[in-house]
Amino acid sequence: MGKRTGFMEYKRKDRGEREPSVRVRDWEDYTAPMNDKDVQIQGARCMSCGVPTCHIGMELNGVTTGCPLNHLIPEWADLVYKGQWKEALKRAHNKNNFPEFTGIACPAPCEGACVLGINEPPVAIRTIERAIVEKGFENGWIKPTPPISRTGKRVAIVGSGPTGLAAAAQLNKVGHSVTVFERDDRVGGLLTYGIPEMKLPYHIVERRVNLLKQEGIKFKTNTEVGLDYPVEKVSADYDAVILAGGATVHREMEVEGGNLEGVCYAMDFLHQNTKSLLDSDLTDGNYISAEDKNVIVIGGGDTGTDCLATAIRHNCKSLVQFDIYEKKSTKRNEHGNPWPQYPIIHRIEYGHKEAASKLGKDPRAFAVLTKKFVGDEQGHIKEVHTVNVRTRYEQGKRIREEIPGTEKIWPADLVLIAIGFQGPEQALLSQLRVERNVNSTVKATYGDYRTNVEGVFCAGDMRRGQSLIVWAIHEGREVARECDRYLMGETDLP
Ligand SMILES: Cc1cc2nc3c(=O)[nH]c(=O)nc-3n(C[C@H](O)[C@H](O)[C@H](O)COP(=O)(O)OP(=O)(O)OC[C@H]3O[C@@H](n4cnc5c(N)ncnc54)[C@H](O)[C@@H]3O)c2cc1C
Ligand code: SF4
Repeated sequence: MGKRTGFMEYKRKDRGEREPSVRVRDWEDYTAPMNDKDVQIQGARCMSCGVPTCHIGMELNGVTTGCPLNHLIPEWADLVYKGQWKEALKRAHNKNNFPEFTGIACPAPCEGACVLGINEPPVAIRTIERAIVEKGFENGWIKPTPPISRTGKRVAIVGSGPTGLAAAAQLNKVGHSVTVFERDDRVGGLLTYGIPEMKLPYHIVERRVNLLKQEGIKFKTNTEVGLDYPVEKVSADYDAVILAGGATVHREMEVEGGNLEGVCYAMDFLHQNTKSLLDSDLTDGNYISAEDKNVIVIGGGDTGTDCLATAIRHNCKSLVQFDIYEKKSTKRNEHGNPWPQYPIIHRIEYGHKEAASKLGKDPRAFAVLTKKFVGDEQGHIKEVHTVNVRTRYEQGKRIREEIPGTEKIWPADLVLIAIGFQGPEQALLSQLRVERNVNSTVKATYGDYRTNVEGVFCAGDMRRGQSLIVWAIHEGREVARECDRYLMGETDLP
């Protein structure tokens, strides 16, 4: 334990943020680094608990709490407090191939389960993790470590998101020859084309991918398996296949007027924006612009927040985010949502601050149900009709009632639908004759990851449905272990 009384002496402090009114003028990382001394003080707040609930990930009430990677949090927090950064970096890499991705974009379920969080703000675990890995890169401590010898076994990984990247890193480490197929032009999956540039800059993904390339992993971009590369060829050319294609088929919004021009799905908006930004600094015009438009984002989750932050940078005229749920309390409900559950509370995320700085108020409208979209004579969206709703639960069943007299009409030139995802795309899975669950995800048991097809494994969002980076890395590591066992008859991978 670093400092026995640290948690009593020091207040929680997170990595800073750049001034919202300034950062909305660029696409750079919205955060601001913290100095070493301040990070060390945050490390001192960790109590090095006998049972560190922060590092045990599980689902409680359907929400992840604790770290699914079983990160050695108390160990690296203590090492940071003592200034032993290089040693802390080793510990951070021990359970996580990419601590920079989680250190930046993880919603930190570890902090939700931190013991200190029972009566004080929890340890700033994510801030410490990010500082450790940034120091590692700054000092050149993170170097490619190719395997000493090769096994002669060839593995194909379909999809280069965090699941595919983690699986590739682990399998390469034990000497298998790994090829990652990616249909997009850049590697990274949703790390690249989902999470926007100001939250997770592409150069951070690229920096890690370059290391993986130097370690011997091959990447075939612009190659869709099942279309550009036949499945028969994958089966013939490789000894095992891992499906890590994600789950980005959006949930349909079945509302009148949904096919009007100007009504788009969030992923189209975000993907096109990042591609155009990286290709041409938005000069090629190949993206959906929010400039000078009345924008409505439907969906109160993180994808919706990413849409807010993107639309603000386009210089939209007005911006509203509909959340179907009522506004939550800023404090955890000790009865309905006690520690160590992940706190389901009202949060003010980066996009909300940015919208408020530009438009003068928080952009959210709560308990709002969209009834229909109405267009003009040219078939372009003109307005959104809504009604407020009340949600209650009866015997665990959610009942939503419309509140008479709360009908409202909102002017709109662009509607961005961010109401979640249905599951993975089906074409490749059908070609491979892989069995699916009723919700369209791939049937492969957690911990085993085998599909019904010999030598074909599946992990990450494609198996579990749209989730988190931390679960993707966890499943990527585990599927690598099972694949190695399949290829070699035994495995040393964790
Ligand atoms: C907008 C958005 C923001 C998010 N923000 C966060 C966040 O801040 N923090 C967090 O923890 N999680 C976040 N998530 C969730 C997180 O990004 C995902 O859970 C995670 O990326 C899943 O990883 P994956 O590797 O399983 O799939 P993906 O990241 O979806 O990668 C799958 C890849 O497979 C490729 N592919 C699919 N089929 C084929 C094929 N046939 N041939 C070749 N390639 C193929 C796809 O092009 C894609 O690149 C966000 C999700 C979205 C949509
Ligand atoms: S639960 Fe919190 S205080 Fe305890 S070891 Fe984990 S980070 Fe430290």
